[in-house]
Amino acid sequence: MLVSRRKPIVISEEKRPRYDVIVDTEQCDGCELCVHYCPKNVLIIGKGTNTRMIHYVEVAHPNDCVGCEQCERICPSVAIFVRERGE
Ligand code: SF4
Ligand code: SF4
Repeated sequence: MLVSRRKPIVISEEKRPRYDVIVDTEQCDGCELCVHYCPKNVLIIGKGTNTRMIHYVEVAHPNDCVGCEQCERICPSVAIFVRERGE
């Protein structure tokens, strides 16, 4: 029988890098693309509105962000940015 020698990569919670997700609320068009593409359900469309009366995206679960930058890449309005904490 074949025995796997591979070990799972387990990163402890303390060593896991953290990320800040910054939203330019005035620039956000509320299209929800980032909400749907985020693999960790970090983002939501909130109740607040910007000066154009558009419900902008909010960071609901910042500690769940894995820094994949999908939201930053998909945003057609260049309204969301991801940075490693401390950068
Ligand atoms: S970087 Fe990835 S995990 Fe973090 S909010 Fe954006 S899409 Fe979600
Ligand atoms: S993809 Fe950009 S414009 Fe659309 S909701 Fe997200 S931050 Fe706003």
